[in-house]
Amino acid sequence: MSINNIDGCIGCGICVETCPTDVIRIDPASGKAAIVYPADCQICHLCRMYCPVDAITITPEKTIPVVVSWG
Ligand code: SF4
Ligand code: SF4
Repeated sequence: MSINNIDGCIGCGICVETCPTDVIRIDPASGKAAIVYPADCQICHLCRMYCPVDAITITPEKTIPVVVSWG
């Protein structure tokens, strides 16, 4: 997952509160969102959907295994 428009981030903290796996924090230095635990991202898209300025873009860095039924 990545935030590709950090300039547009207004530091509202909504993504921090909505992320179920605690991936994002507000960087005290910049006052903007920062990805601190990217490995924990579950690609749920909640942060992207709730961001009021569309600062977050989700990139498909993980893949979900395709389960094929042979029955
Ligand atoms: S996509 Fe979901 S799990 Fe990943 S950072 Fe956003 S809210 Fe958290
Ligand atoms: S929800 Fe969007 S604007 Fe708010 S802190 Fe997160 S990235 Fe920044």
